[in-house]
Amino acid sequence: MADREGEIRAGVEAVRAASRICVDVQKRLVTADTLEKKDKSPVTVADFASQAVVCALLARSLPGDRVVGEEDAADLRPDENAALRRAVVERVAAELGGGPGEGEVLDAIDLGGAAAVGDRYWTLDPIDGTKGFLRGEQYAVALGLIEGGQVTLGILGCPNLAHAGGTGALFVGGQGVAARAFALVDDGGRGSEIRVASPASVADARFCESVESGHSDQGQSQEIAGRLGITAEPYRIDSQCKYAAVARGDASIYLRLPTRKDYREKIWDHAAGKAVVEAAGGRVTDVDGRDLDFTHGRTLDRNRGIIATSGAIHDQVLDAVRATLGA
Ligand code: AMP
Ligand code: MG
Repeated sequence: MADREGEIRAGVEAVRAASRICVDVQKRLVTADTLEKKDKSPVTVADFASQAVVCALLARSLPGDRVVGEEDAADLRPDENAALRRAVVERVAAELGGGPGEGEVLDAIDLGGAAAVGDRYWTLDPIDGTKGFLRGEQYAVALGLIEGGQVTLGILGCPNLAHAGGTGALFVGGQGVAARAFALVDDGGRGSEIRVASPASVADARFCESVESGHSDQGQSQEIAGRLGITAEPYRIDSQCKYAAVARGDASIYLRLPTRKDYREKIWDHAAGKAVVEAAGGRVTDVDGRDLDFTHGRTLDRNRGIIATSGAIHDQVLDAVRATLGA
């Protein structure tokens, strides 16, 4: 088994490669005015290609490691999806070189179909925030390592997030791994350590939430902010960029408030972000103050919603959340 340094190197390389694909596809998406035609197929290509590249690169560096990814190659195999399959294979071949064939690409995507059980597995969202991706806005490639039900390492590629005067950020953090921010495009730099903000009082905290009102109750978040005396406008941003925002102090609170009783959060939507926020000194629970429980397969079955904060204000925020949501 690789050591932590080896895991970080492998994970970072994989997330950078997948991010390159996403950047390229998003560029074409915006210029080819597919947005107006509501053609969502480019995002599907990028989704599958991103998962294939991450799985193929992890398999090379860390043979035998399992990946629980959002996508399933079964959706690509039927004949009617031959054009989509070809487009995915082309993308992956362009990134990896050496011209992997269709079979190899489908196998690589399948490598990401491991069951979310056992002591150790990676979990991957190949494009988190597809709505943001389609709008030409924020999204993330999110890779987390789960060991013994705990997230021990998180890597977030955020291609459209500003960083050090440029665009594109990469975040790494975990248990025993200080949270750091790097340029997404490898410049050989060592990055810089990041830390959550420490607002003087909770009223000074800025909160972030989903752009999509269907993913988090924005009316309730407004009420919670009111209870806390927060007057700043919410920072609405897609994907796990919200965790990155809390980890580096752009915001101090991330509210994800259930919009439906039956929705269960997906492990790949939170694993990487949680690791980075905690490594930066923050705290992450569900809306009831419970720890996130990664021992129930592909979903956080025993949790509802998410609250991430800079830490010291967490209990105060939870009180306001409880008062608004009811017990
Ligand atoms: P965001 O970018 O914060 O809006 O979150 C994007 C993620 O929301 C997607 O990856 C979906 O897995 C997830 N999602 C889809 N439906 C819901 C829902 N009803 N409640 C919460 N999250 C959802
Ligand atoms: Mg997602």
